[in-house]
Amino acid sequence: MTSASPLQQSWTNTMMNAYGTPVLGLVRGKGCIVEDENGKEYLDLLSGIAVNCLGHQHPAIIEAVTDQLHTLGHTSNFFVHPPEAHLAERLVTAFGSDQPTRVFFCNSGAEANEIAFKLSRLTGRRRIFTHLDGFHGRTMGSLALTGQEKKRAPFEPMPAGVEYFPFNDFAALQALVEKDPENTAAVIIEPIMGEAGVMVPDDDYLQKIRDLTSHYGILMICDEVQTGVYRTGDMFCSRAQGVVPDVVTLAKGLAGGFPIGAVLATGPAAGFFQPGSHGTTFGGNPYSCAAGNAVLDTIEAEKLSDHVREMGERFMSSLAALHLPLVAEIRGRGLLIGVELAEAIGPFVEQAARDAGFIINAARPNVLRIAPPLIISGEQIDQAVAAFPGILDAAFHAAAAQS
Ligand SMILES: *Cc1c(COP(=O)(O)O)cnc(C)c1O
Repeated sequence: MTSASPLQQSWTNTMMNAYGTPVLGLVRGKGCIVEDENGKEYLDLLSGIAVNCLGHQHPAIIEAVTDQLHTLGHTSNFFVHPPEAHLAERLVTAFGSDQPTRVFFCNSGAEANEIAFKLSRLTGRRRIFTHLDGFHGRTMGSLALTGQEKKRAPFEPMPAGVEYFPFNDFAALQALVEKDPENTAAVIIEPIMGEAGVMVPDDDYLQKIRDLTSHYGILMICDEVQTGVYRTGDMFCSRAQGVVPDVVTLAKGLAGGFPIGAVLATGPAAGFFQPGSHGTTFGGNPYSCAAGNAVLDTIEAEKLSDHVREMGERFMSSLAALHLPLVAEIRGRGLLIGVELAEAIGPFVEQAARDAGFIINAARPNVLRIAPPLIISGEQIDQAVAAFPGILDAAFHAAAAQS
């Protein structure tokens, strides 16, 4: 390890150690390239954890946010404003439910799931089921929904009622639900588990959950904080598989880097919140909504939906064609891709990738997550794939040298 840079030193001196010292200090970004404080450039294959869907410095976002700041800044939710009304209308339209659909804007993914949790309580029922190894955020409610004992344990007691079942195990869920369906409020799942290592369920899994939950009047809540907003090729990963969840949460990519979260609810759940049920000072603020509208305008105008599918296929098929012995499995949808390694050398791969000029994230010690900006070009995909054998080789040797 090289010695700490000035930014890393400053971080160590002033910041709570909730993340461990950041691996790089970044100072600039343009398109799919970011630059560190030493002037080294990287191809960004993580995009701020699936957030910067239009890359860095996208002119549409700069223009929309600048115009908005020159027009109307913060308002609070005592007032409605054009960017918020417009964004809500297009989310409702994109969701395409035949039932009344309503939106609540907030500021992050955890907060969106916190709201979904509160909606579930308003059913009057208590039990909630969610995936083991799933991730829904770090606030107390969203942490309770997060199926990772290690993350929850120091913060017990959690809000009550949450139980966990294995990913993609419909029979296990059904058995849990049928112990007391009348008191089951909600099933909340990620359509593809992101943080858990890009876990893709069987094709009929969401539909089976929809059928079960509909049968017992249970809310089906899809956490699309990571899979939504075209990350997986469609606005909603769940809707693309033919199901209409009662509640969907969005955040990460929705405003291309500006803080925003959104909860969509359709059918009865759309009417659960009444004045006083929930609130937020910043949620639905004008510049985040303006950025969200710019993101959706750009994705539609540039047909990025098709592009995301093509680039995802290109990455997965060309990496598979290399037949690398260290690659055990390649999976994903659109530009949310998991590369499972035969050895748990993820952190070494991150470092070797940085050395080679790529930002890659190991979601798990043995799974790399590839989530570049949705605007990434075919040439950039090819560059990344071409660098893969050398990166894995360097990581393998670095890991061997350390053990
Ligand atoms: C990132 C993420 C969250 C938490 O979002 P924050 O904005 O970090 O609070 C929740 N759910 C999923 C699926 C996520 O990927």
